[in-house]
Amino acid sequence: MSPTGSIALTFDDGPDPVWTPRVLDALAASDARATFFVLAPLAVRHPEILRRARDEGHEVALHCNRHVRHDRMNAEEILSDATDGLRILGRLGHDTKAWRVPWGVVTPDTEAVAGELGLRLVGWTVDSEDWRGDPAAGMIGRLSPGIGAGAVVLMHDGVGPGASRDGCGETVGLVAPLVSMAAARGLKTAKICDLRGPLPVRNPGKVACV
Ligand SMILES: [Zn+2]
Repeated sequence: MSPTGSIALTFDDGPDPVWTPRVLDALAASDARATFFVLAPLAVRHPEILRRARDEGHEVALHCNRHVRHDRMNAEEILSDATDGLRILGRLGHDTKAWRVPWGVVTPDTEAVAGELGLRLVGWTVDSEDWRGDPAAGMIGRLSPGIGAGAVVLMHDGVGPGASRDGCGETVGLVAPLVSMAAARGLKTAKICDLRGPLPVRNPGKVACV
């Protein structure tokens, strides 16, 4: 796979017992690969979903242990949260170096902790804003200009604390047209760990991970 011909599909805030399996079904139907930035307590509750994700060729990576903005935590709390999250994921068999922090809020302390733990901070280049609950057709239109080589697409397979939707059905519905659009532009889907070159650390526009 050409490193310049890939996009990364990324999902935050799972695993969710209802929606993550449906996202996995959609990815399988489109023969696509994705990265899941998971909440450690949910990973403990639903380990079988993450085993399935890994077995089907996806990447399981760290979102957080507690879903708290880093500008509301000190360096010690950020270090402790990341360490706890990594330990929990490691115990479940998911060793990861990829870290997307809550709401994408990266502070100097975040960067110091990432350096200390050898973690690769991962932001995004395009945001589905799927937490609003918009129809998939609307989201695909909004994402279209940003779907090019190296795009990192933010979506959610769980309903976060600030979401204004009841479920992730429209996100499930977004997978097939997104993969088709990428394919029509000569792009494949790749896991974050398979992407070469610089990744977005800070994020465009407003903070949108909810
Ligand atoms: Zn989140």
